[in-house]
Amino acid sequence: MADKVLTCKDCGAKFTFTESEQAFYKEKGFENEPLRCPDCRKARKQQRNNRDNRGGGRGGFGGGNRRG
Ligand SMILES: [Zn+2]
Repeated sequence: MADKVLTCKDCGAKFTFTESEQAFYKEKGFENEPLRCPDCRKARKQQRNNRDNRGGGRGGFGGGNRRG
């Protein structure tokens, strides 16, 4: 195995998916490579936290729970 350079889906930046990260992913059973650079991953996490703090969502957000 060797380090891989991937392109972030969100910002288009190149980031390294290191050997040890690949091993970690494998160990966890993840089949996919990370789509986002560490920065974007962090940003998304924070955004989710912010959203979770807001109670009572009103409006037309259709939650699609389709699988298949
Ligand atoms: Zn990014």
